[in-house]
Amino acid sequence: MCRHLAYLGTAVPIGGPLYEAPHSLERQSYAPGDMRAGGTVNVDGYGVGWFPGPVRYRRAGTLWSDPNLRQLAGTESTAFLAAVRSATTGMPVADAACAPFTDGTWLFSHNGRVDGWPHTVARLAKTLDVTDLLTMDAPTDSALLWTVLRRRLETGKNPAQTLVELVREVADAAPKSRLNFLLTNGKVLVGTTWTHALWVLQKGEGVTLASEPLDDDPDWREIPDRHVVTAVPSTVEVRPI
Ligand code: GLN
Repeated sequence: MCRHLAYLGTAVPIGGPLYEAPHSLERQSYAPGDMRAGGTVNVDGYGVGWFPGPVRYRRAGTLWSDPNLRQLAGTESTAFLAAVRSATTGMPVADAACAPFTDGTWLFSHNGRVDGWPHTVARLAKTLDVTDLLTMDAPTDSALLWTVLRRRLETGKNPAQTLVELVREVADAAPKSRLNFLLTNGKVLVGTTWTHALWVLQKGEGVTLASEPLDDDPDWREIPDRHVVTAVPSTVEVRPI
């Protein structure tokens, strides 16, 4: 399954979590520590989006073989979201299928899969207009969830509540789905756990959410399953979904 992370705080180089940390996202692409549900590596794509911006860069393929992204490692950012992808069987491997997905000020990533795709969530797709469907980034579960979510975020509703509602709806329609989401607008990080791991580290002036701890810092805390976490550097709030 995919691995993802998000950071919010004082400006740091995006290359730290991507490349330099002992258990960086690059390392998690070929030697992840906690893969579930059949995947072994995350080599189908990768992406990072950062603030100010957001500026988004994503590619199909392997993170470690991209010298262009490495050139951007020194970019200092106050908030960023990055992911490596293990494509769900049957879903296309393409740049546009990689997280983060973005719209306006939002960046979004999905670690997991919608069980029974696409039939189980056809009803959810019907809430979209044809233009939304025709302009979806890719014909994947994650891109559909993002298309639904971005419309709902436009209403200005609380992002954590919006994510929780989406998890509930998809889990009702397709109970065996795995729905770990990350979402940020550069001011707050929101994440969900639904049958996959997510960890949080609050350190100094920054907070990080990540599928796997990036180092052996004893302050990494695991978010319990079926919870939503809302994080800013000073406060991490965790509640059941
Ligand atoms: N189902 C999503 C995709 O194919 C996410 C995959 C994952 O988490 N491994 O892109």
